[in-house]
Amino acid sequence: MITIDRKRLAQRLSQEEKRFVDGHPRSRELFERARKSLLGGVPMNWMVRWAGNYPVFVAEGKGPHITDVDGLRYLDLCLGDTGAMTGHAPGPAVEAVAERMRRGTTFMLPTEDALWVGEELQRRFGLPYWQMALTATDANRFAIRLAREITRRPLILVYNWCYHGSVDETFITLKDGKAVARRHNIGPPVDPAVTTRVIEFNDLAALETALAPRDVACVLAEPAMTNIGIIHPDPGYLDALRDITRRTGTLLIIDETHTICAGPGGYTKEHGLKPDMLTLGKPIASGVPAAVYGVSEELAGRIQDHASIEDSDSGGIGGTLAGNALSIAAMKATLQSVLTREAYDMTIPLAQRFTEGVEGVIRDTGLPWHVTRLGCRAEYWFCPRPPRNGSEADATADADLDRYMHLCALNRGILMTPFHNMALIAPGTTAADIDRHTAVFRDSVEGLLGRA
Ligand code: PMP
Repeated sequence: MITIDRKRLAQRLSQEEKRFVDGHPRSRELFERARKSLLGGVPMNWMVRWAGNYPVFVAEGKGPHITDVDGLRYLDLCLGDTGAMTGHAPGPAVEAVAERMRRGTTFMLPTEDALWVGEELQRRFGLPYWQMALTATDANRFAIRLAREITRRPLILVYNWCYHGSVDETFITLKDGKAVARRHNIGPPVDPAVTTRVIEFNDLAALETALAPRDVACVLAEPAMTNIGIIHPDPGYLDALRDITRRTGTLLIIDETHTICAGPGGYTKEHGLKPDMLTLGKPIASGVPAAVYGVSEELAGRIQDHASIEDSDSGGIGGTLAGNALSIAAMKATLQSVLTREAYDMTIPLAQRFTEGVEGVIRDTGLPWHVTRLGCRAEYWFCPRPPRNGSEADATADADLDRYMHLCALNRGILMTPFHNMALIAPGTTAADIDRHTAVFRDSVEGLLGRA
């Protein structure tokens, strides 16, 4: 089996780093200045986690392309880690936002657009009642709070190596079979093992055992894991998850924030899932901060029976700007004219083309890697077969290899998602764009193997 020569990898990486620095002088200037006023030189800490020696500063984005302050143009396959899955600055959202901005944006009162959005969410996802938040993290927090309140159970359950935003309860992992806090967990309020059970994805026996004591309020799950590579559920797994949660009185919250890549109604609609709650953020308003969570008929009744939830200012479910008119106008435009079935009909075949291109290179070079796809999202991973759970995927993560592949792509005008080897396809991307990625991927791999 072909293995990576780590010395050559280090050499190639330092060549790419030099190329990056030579090509991005203006970004460097801005970064050096930013370090004097912004912690770490960036407005948000993960912006330093890109593969360059410093972050590329963006001038603008339009459709699937970004231009940086050095005047370089990129094909964007990161798309703000799904926040810009709509493509940048989609026309209908731009117009709706500009119009709403002129007429006022936040009132602590509803606008008529909210009704259209609620009705459309009903139609897309099959859940009857909806609420708004500003981020997917908040939507998940609120859903968890409601689940605890209604069931009067203390715990939640998540999958090992999941990510659902900066939700305290979810920063837990399995180490030698024991639940422990995830590494670098910053200032946790309590040990997450107090609030959370964690099991491997696709492990039905573990699920049965974890829910048997009937002290778990909810399972918070992506229907396919997307934050440790893409991990598909085994056939029948999600049906069994639904059965076991129902049988044990545990609520099932499906987080569609990334799996909305599967289709206009997310994985839920594509596969006929029946969650008790569904959460979704990121692209739903074309990059304007907005998120939603939906609840089933039965749950809506139970929520309304809980008078304490009326205390919305002190009840832990809130946000002065949640449900603001601007976010809602952007959501309406996005659902009406941007994240449409026609858009997916364009982007999903391109993701298929991406997958086939990468697969071809893997086959030709003999590298023990693989690539997986879910709707308009694809991701390659450094092991020969798709992992079945987070531990298997984590065991084959390779930070240096990641950095090399990302930097090769970036230096040749293609942005991949940091923390992932993920490519997401926005409307407006062309087959030629995808083929260019395949060519860059081939060159990067051949460079790594000393064949170029
Ligand atoms: N859910 C999932 C599945 C996510 O991947 C993320 C972020 N990557 C979130 C929720 C949180 O989104 P946000 O950071 O926008 O709140």
